[in-house]
Amino acid sequence: MAWFRRSKQKILSTERRTVSEDLWRKCPSCSEYVYNRELENAQYVCPTCSHHFSINCRKYLELLLDSNGATTELNSNLKSVDPLGFVALKKYSDQIIAAQEKTGLGEAVITVTGTVDGYPIVLCVMDFAFIGGSMGSAVGEKISRAIEYAREHHFPLAIISASGGARMQEGALSLMQMAKLSAKLAVFAQERGLFVSILTDPTTGGVTASFAMLGDVILAEPGALIGFAGARVIKQTIGQDLPEGFQRAEFLLEKGFVDHIVHRKEMRSTLKHLISFFGYERSADSHQQ
Ligand SMILES: [Zn+2]
Repeated sequence: MAWFRRSKQKILSTERRTVSEDLWRKCPSCSEYVYNRELENAQYVCPTCSHHFSINCRKYLELLLDSNGATTELNSNLKSVDPLGFVALKKYSDQIIAAQEKTGLGEAVITVTGTVDGYPIVLCVMDFAFIGGSMGSAVGEKISRAIEYAREHHFPLAIISASGGARMQEGALSLMQMAKLSAKLAVFAQERGLFVSILTDPTTGGVTASFAMLGDVILAEPGALIGFAGARVIKQTIGQDLPEGFQRAEFLLEKGFVDHIVHRKEMRSTLKHLISFFGYERSADSHQQ
C-alpha cells in the first residue's frame, strides 16, 4: 500500500510566500503587519506599538512645513565629488551615482527655507538612504551655508539628523566638517540664533559628535538610536555589559543628553511652540493664527 505512505518527508514549495512590501509593512518592533496607507496616515508610526519607522527627508519636510507656505531649497546644486579616488568594495564615485539614482537626492541632506505655522525657519533634513546619511564635504557645506542663511535672515534653525556619522570615503575632508559646523554654530549662538536639533533613528558617529549635540534644545524621536561608537565596540573596549536600553532616546533623556522626546505627530507643534517661546515673529505675509 505504498500510496498511503509519503515518499518524501518534506513538502517543497518552489515559490516563497512574501507579503507585498507595496501594501503591507511588518513592524520590526511588535511584528504586526500594518497596511501601508494606514501607516502613511499615521506619519509612519506603528498604530500598535508606536514604533517610528524611518522616513525619507522629503516626507519629514512635508510633516513639518506649511503646505501653503513658500518653500525654497538652498544650494541644491552642491554635490559630493571623489577627492581621494576612493575604492573599497566599490568605487566611491559609483556609490554616489547609485545613491543619487536610488533616492532622487543630490546629497544626504536637503536644506530648505520655509514656514512652520507661519514662522519662517531654515530646515536641514538628513536622509539615511543616501550612503547611510553620512556627512561628506558636500553635506557639511550645505549645512554650513544653511546656518549662515539662518544667521543672515535672523531665522531659527532646525536640523533633523539621521546618520551613521562621517563619510569615511572622503577621509579627513569629511572629519573637518565636524569642526567647521561646530564653529559655524558657535557664531550663530553668539548672535542669539535658536538651533533646535532633532535626533531620529539613527544618529551616530561624527554627526552626534558635532552639530547634533549642540542644539539649544535637543529633541529626539521615541526609541531612536543615538550614540557615538557602536554598542559592541564599547562593550569590547570596557569589557562590561551595557545597561538595558543603552543608546536609545529614553536612556539619553534620563542621563540629560536629550531635553525632550517627541512623538512624530507632535513634532511640528513642538517646533512651533519653541520658535514662538524664543521670541521669533511670524512672517508678515502669514495668515496663520
Ligand atoms: Zn509595532
